[in-house]
Amino acid sequence: MNQSQELFDRAKKIIPGGVNSPVRAFRAVGGTPFFTKQAKGSRLITADDQELIDYVCTWGPAIHGHDHPVIREAVSEALAKGTSFGTPGPDEVEMAELLVEIVPSVEKIRMCNSGTEATMSSIRLARGFTGKSKIIKFAGCYHGHVDSLLVKAGSGALTLGNPDSAGIPESFAKETIVLPYNDLTAVENAFSQSEDGIAAIIVEPYPANCGLILPDDGYLEGLRKICDHNQAVLIFDEVMTGFRLSLGGVQEKTGVTPDMTAMGKIIGGGLPVGAFGGKAEIMDFLAPLGPVYQAGTLSGNPLAMAAGVASLQLLKESMPYDRLESLGNQLALGIQQIAKEYSIPLQVPQVGSMYCLFFNENPVRNFEDAISSHSEYFKKLFQHCLANGVYLPPSPYETCFISNAHIENDISKTLDLFNEAFKAF
Ligand SMILES: *Cc1c(COP(=O)(O)O)cnc(C)c1O
Repeated sequence: MNQSQELFDRAKKIIPGGVNSPVRAFRAVGGTPFFTKQAKGSRLITADDQELIDYVCTWGPAIHGHDHPVIREAVSEALAKGTSFGTPGPDEVEMAELLVEIVPSVEKIRMCNSGTEATMSSIRLARGFTGKSKIIKFAGCYHGHVDSLLVKAGSGALTLGNPDSAGIPESFAKETIVLPYNDLTAVENAFSQSEDGIAAIIVEPYPANCGLILPDDGYLEGLRKICDHNQAVLIFDEVMTGFRLSLGGVQEKTGVTPDMTAMGKIIGGGLPVGAFGGKAEIMDFLAPLGPVYQAGTLSGNPLAMAAGVASLQLLKESMPYDRLESLGNQLALGIQQIAKEYSIPLQVPQVGSMYCLFFNENPVRNFEDAISSHSEYFKKLFQHCLANGVYLPPSPYETCFISNAHIENDISKTLDLFNEAFKAF
């Protein structure tokens, strides 16, 4: 028996489904998940010594590739000074200064431990600040596993064929208004029909958790206007897009400025981190200055801050965005061309280092379009790639990532495999 199978069998006895995050279980693509024993550059090395070109990049954080020497060195220096202090530390100030400098709309920031904490605290703060209860989210957008945000939440929940989670009281879910993405009229109607007011709109500005969906022209600007008109807080969940699509995220790329921003993934440099920030007048509603409580024993952890600061400084120095856009474009165009050759219905939305594969005849503008894709094709492609050294995300509803450690040779090898796979469809 191979090592991954043996580990998975052991894990399944004592970890539900054998995994600590559901999509890792390969339910959407079938087969036993491989276990990774090491990761370097653009590659994962499995417990059975298979080397894989990695397009998951730890689900977004690894924009520099795995085990970047600068980040490793920063963590190791921090480690020598202690793993947690429980008092403020110098790296927290440096991290906060960097984030405020980089993210256009952020005047003040608070660190937490995951993207989920960041969105959870953002909506609490928006509710505390406005004194209103309801929030709007969009079908297919994933904001972590926050109770009131796990309605039509895309990503892992969608992969398991279950867009809503059990265990969320109806009374909580009632506070969340779920609307289709890319439909401003729906948002306007929700505001005009809501009697007791809407505290916030939370949105992945480029939804990347039910595949990758891009906003129609004027859509994000429209959300901004509606929020201004109704005194509601506009929250961009840039946990995925922040620092990946441009240094300052979608808000820098599009010029649309939210009131608050949730962050995570890249800002931890591979360690567990989240952050949320925004206008000072809103952020000052947080304890200890204001009435909205939020806290964390390990928030601002020195190892995570060291890794995150190193990761951000590397981005500032290397500015890899043009290079990533060019690799992403090369891959997406190449894939589309091969699909056309074999008459396979495939859409490959791509922006910078993010792309996804919708086996669909038509462009995908929202959640309903996304779930009308042919998932059987994805399964076949996934398995062919995995067997031959390329790891795609194990679900048709995840975005693929390219890191700055990927090279042209990785891209051409990937295109060769797609060609083989599509030929055999
Ligand atoms: C990953 C993700 C989250 C959740 O972050 P965790 O660190 O997994 O809790 C929230 N929002 C978006 C857009 C994400 O991609």
